[in-house]
Amino acid sequence: MAKKQFKAESKRLLEMMINSIYSQKEIFLRELISNASDAIDKIYYKALTDENLRFNKDDYYIKVVADKENRTLTLIDTGIGMTKEELENNLGTIAKSGSLAFKNENESKDGHDIIGQFGVGFYSAFMVADVVTVISKALGSDEAYKWESKGADGYTLTPYEKDDVGTEIILKLKENTEDDRYDEYLEEYKLKSIIKKYSDFIRYPIKMDATTSKPKEDSESELEEVQEEQIVNSMVPIWRKNKNELTDEDYENFYNEKHYGFDKPLKHIHVSVDGAIRYNAILYIPENIPFDYYSKEFEKGLELYSNGVLIMEKCSDLLPDYFSFVKGMVDSEDLSLNISREILQQDKQLKLIAKNIKNKISSNLQSMLKEDREKYETFYKSFGRQLKYGVYSDFGSNKDTLQNLLLFYSSKEKKLITLDEYISRMPEDQKYIYYATGESYERIERLPQTELVAEKGYEILYFTEDIDEFAIKMLMNYKEKEFKSVSSGDLGIEDNDPQTEEEKNENKELFSLMKESLAGKVKDVRASKRLRSHPVCLTAEGEVSIEMEKILNAMPNNENVKADKVLEININHEVYQSLKDAFEKDKDKLNLYTNLLYNQALLIEGLPIQDPVEFTNDICKIMV
Ligand code: ADP
Ligand code: MG
Repeated sequence: MAKKQFKAESKRLLEMMINSIYSQKEIFLRELISNASDAIDKIYYKALTDENLRFNKDDYYIKVVADKENRTLTLIDTGIGMTKEELENNLGTIAKSGSLAFKNENESKDGHDIIGQFGVGFYSAFMVADVVTVISKALGSDEAYKWESKGADGYTLTPYEKDDVGTEIILKLKENTEDDRYDEYLEEYKLKSIIKKYSDFIRYPIKMDATTSKPKEDSESELEEVQEEQIVNSMVPIWRKNKNELTDEDYENFYNEKHYGFDKPLKHIHVSVDGAIRYNAILYIPENIPFDYYSKEFEKGLELYSNGVLIMEKCSDLLPDYFSFVKGMVDSEDLSLNISREILQQDKQLKLIAKNIKNKISSNLQSMLKEDREKYETFYKSFGRQLKYGVYSDFGSNKDTLQNLLLFYSSKEKKLITLDEYISRMPEDQKYIYYATGESYERIERLPQTELVAEKGYEILYFTEDIDEFAIKMLMNYKEKEFKSVSSGDLGIEDNDPQTEEEKNENKELFSLMKESLAGKVKDVRASKRLRSHPVCLTAEGEVSIEMEKILNAMPNNENVKADKVLEININHEVYQSLKDAFEKDKDKLNLYTNLLYNQALLIEGLPIQDPVEFTNDICKIMV
């Protein structure tokens, strides 16, 4: 019989996984049980919604059978089964195409993350088995098939005899090595403890033949060992359990089992609401950003159960975009089983649940911010950007929920602070919340524009992310204090005008000549009120800041937005004297100086110089 090859990328992933020194091989059992449970979910759901299918409760189970003699471990389930095509497609390939791209970017990782992230769960069987055999009969199909594989070299698929619908997976365990005793997975106590640890809440019975001691029939005092079928798991879904009974580890195991993420969640939120709406939910705030989070491929959503039956894997209506990083599930008795996506969107109950969940998440984040600042900052480093997008989108309609969750880097504290913290230490004479934008904290720190505000002793928020200034423009103000860029035309700071009336008149002609030579580039040339030690800077008037001009023009289909730029000259700087001299004696020289200063201001802003060659030539001119 010809051997079929795994699809190329599956093969690579499989090899990688088999060879990875994965510390917790025992999770293969969790993966196979979870697949079995999913398969039973499907047939259970079908039976509930199709009158022609009648099953007994007892018909749904998973059984684990260890055969020490043959060194095989078998998992039997009464789930929906797989057709020939499904065996080929589901087990012969890894559908989720992102997996290898991810792997390549994370060469050094040990494989653990990949298993979790992509639910290549089935393949984990090869961590403990040399040969994996899957015998399956699909619901509504007359024939059964046997799929068999010895690992990366391929698999065979042959017709097979099987009476009942469902799947049987037979693992021929690997030989023991110095480091790994695969025999352990045939031991009753070991299997029980793995099942208890990872799969306790599975809704269907996980059965095992276990040895128990019983009094002999003919004698009351003597005991004999008998094999008896036992149910190993408690079968109560974790979300129906009492919070007091559950440990952090229980929640972490559930997170991993469900493949919500490959990290350890930062926080879990267990919600049980019993009122006008009734629902249970377990929500997680992940620690790390999923690799596709800030891409178009990312799909938000929570698992949705109706009275314990999974009806949707990713219900996006349950989460607002700005909390799209939240993972988890919701179970409600009040939802109909036969609900379609379209109806669901209109569903009043669902809307109530969504609103409730939104509030829970926001209050939990709020308390994390108050009670565990370090943890919150970890969260914020991953998902703060999403919160800021949330402020900006939907025309700012979510500002009230989100503004208290924002953090920005402070010039004074040299760390992230909240807007409340900023406001609380504002001196009385300070009218605005000041911010400065730039590529990095270091660069902003050195911006000439910050000089006056800093000299006044006012705190400045440093914006380094594209979204920052847009979000703040949407907020407009916080607790009645307006935001103001240190580069904006009017800083709102009472200050002695650096120019006397006499100087003003004298400067008028000089500045208008400079403005002429920079025609089309700047809107005005002015004596600066904000500069202290630096000779020159650019500021902007009007709605569009220089930073926004940069961002907008970096976008595809940009409409060539321009900020109204103003060239500010420090008239207390020595350079100013040179300008005045040139103005009186040598207009060409004035032109040269003007261009030099303008280009310097561009460089400080991180803006491109139109003609770098001319700029360097100009510098040479003043050197010789
Ligand atoms: P995932 O569970 O994340 O989809 P797996 O690698 O664990 O990924 O399983 C791949 C697919 O194989 C499943 O989606 C399912 O369609 C199918 N499958 C695996 N085990 C079973 C089973 N016991 N019964 C029916 N289908 C199964
Ligand atoms: Mg799986």
